[in-house]
Amino acid sequence: MKRLEEFFFEPNCGHNKLKSEKEKKQGCSKPKPGGASGGCAFDGAQIALVPISDALHLVHGPIPCAGNSWDNRGTRSSFSTNYRIGLTTDMSEMDVVHGGEKKLYRAIKEVVERYKPSAVFVYQTCVPAMIGDDVVSVCKKASEDLGVPIIPVESPGFVGSKNLGNKLAGDALFRYVIGTQEPEYTTDYDVNLLGEYNIAGELWQVKPLFKELGIRILACISGDVTYRQVACAHRARVNMVVCSKTMLNLARKMEEKYGIPYFEGSFYGIKDTSDALRNFARLLGSEELIERTERLIEREEKRIKEKLQPYIEKLRGKRVLINTGGVKSWSMVSQVQELGMVVVGTSGKKSTSGDKERMIELLGDEGKIVDDPNPKELVRMFKEYDVDLLMAGGRSKFVALKEGIPFLDTNQERIKPYAGYDGMLILAQELVRTLYSPVFKLYRRKAPWQSL
Ligand code: SF4
Repeated sequence: MKRLEEFFFEPNCGHNKLKSEKEKKQGCSKPKPGGASGGCAFDGAQIALVPISDALHLVHGPIPCAGNSWDNRGTRSSFSTNYRIGLTTDMSEMDVVHGGEKKLYRAIKEVVERYKPSAVFVYQTCVPAMIGDDVVSVCKKASEDLGVPIIPVESPGFVGSKNLGNKLAGDALFRYVIGTQEPEYTTDYDVNLLGEYNIAGELWQVKPLFKELGIRILACISGDVTYRQVACAHRARVNMVVCSKTMLNLARKMEEKYGIPYFEGSFYGIKDTSDALRNFARLLGSEELIERTERLIEREEKRIKEKLQPYIEKLRGKRVLINTGGVKSWSMVSQVQELGMVVVGTSGKKSTSGDKERMIELLGDEGKIVDDPNPKELVRMFKEYDVDLLMAGGRSKFVALKEGIPFLDTNQERIKPYAGYDGMLILAQELVRTLYSPVFKLYRRKAPWQSL
């Protein structure tokens, strides 16, 4: 519990920075019933770690916990498919009566012998936490007996939201994984990305740029990454926090323990991608790298702007409402504004105060921050702001489609990568395809009997 409270006092959290000393002592607001409806802490921890692809991910709890979150993110891997195997101890009433520790040990042994993974992450859910299963001790014993790292992730859903779960995942990596192995060699240009999940292959959109600049991504936590890469992440020279909320605590702790400086950034949009590359070059501290980076940025911006031109002509002035969370709530605003579109509103529901400041700056007088983007509010905004398109997650899809509003999925289930310079082109193509799809014209047409 004491460790949990540490997350509520994160010194680098945008919310905490704005609080008075008295408010800081009170910590964050405690979770309320229903607060985990957008995903519980276990869900958040699992989605943050599952992309460690050669490890196995074992959910200690009743089977619905595993079913709740398994494979619901389109994260991609070029290493192993281990991460896609859904594993659970499937706790029953008998385990609640007699305790689930022995069952957990047997499950770890079975999966290690069957799949020979690089490591096993064991997720504690609500039920074993409430009956007092000592997951940490079971993992320690199994690790000693089997000779494989078994990592406990103490993330029962009732402790809070999905975002808190992301932080708990970062904490598990910091305590049990990072710094436990050494890379074969190091370079002056080794970096980590924190909070990049390679959804729809977005990491692969920016990786070639790093390669060209001679910057090595030592570990991407967690997207298209191996357990060993994460274990060696302490040798990086710079960390970039790609999603501002989820891994900020990890970045701060790595700075304190290993002296790795970090910055927050995004790969959505031309400007943000260029800024991220510039920040890397600056923090890596080589004049020659800074010059090379500027040359690459100039070339890439020119190339992509030429390719975008025909799409911008079709998108200019179109009015878009964005309902997404965290860093995307502002980074996608700037991305679509670069395409000439007008953002009438963006969701502030899961955003930090830092995220909100950026939104206000980008939106100006034209857009609104929507704190509670429920279906009724979305429908009201469609009408009041004359919305041409909704960019959101799958949950809002049917609200848009029922109203005849074109919809583009931009959340974790998306299948197209929108990061980097080339991601910008893909986004523009998708936006044009969606906006100009003839189906919406047909759908909005009145039925013959309605004109009688
Ligand atoms: S961990 Fe708890 S809140 Fe999360 S899915 Fe399982 S029972 Fe539900």
